Amino acid sequence: MLTTPCPKCGYLLEMTTALNNHPDTKPSEGDLSICLDCGEILQFNALLALEPFDLASLTDQVTNADECRRLMTKAQKIIHDRGRINKKKTPGGD
Ligand SMILES: [Zn+2]
Repeated sequence: MLTTPCPKCGYLLEMTTALNNHPDTKPSEGDLSICLDCGEILQFNALLALEPFDLASLTDQVTNADECRRLMTKAQKIIHDRGRINKKKTPGGD
């Protein structure tokens, strides 16, 4: 299983679960993700590493930008309401 760390909290995120739940879907540069531990909104770069992403920068040039923003914000709220998976604090985490 491919994993990559969250740049904010260090939680190892798998790179194989897509919203369409298709097992062969792989991330591409520019794809968005969210840390399941801290709720940080993330984007895959050219090396398929994750970088923090500001949802406000999502332009209307992206298909369904408003819906994407709404769903990512909703997912982030659910994660924040649930609390951290990793209870120990990491540098840069909150
Ligand atoms: Zn995180």
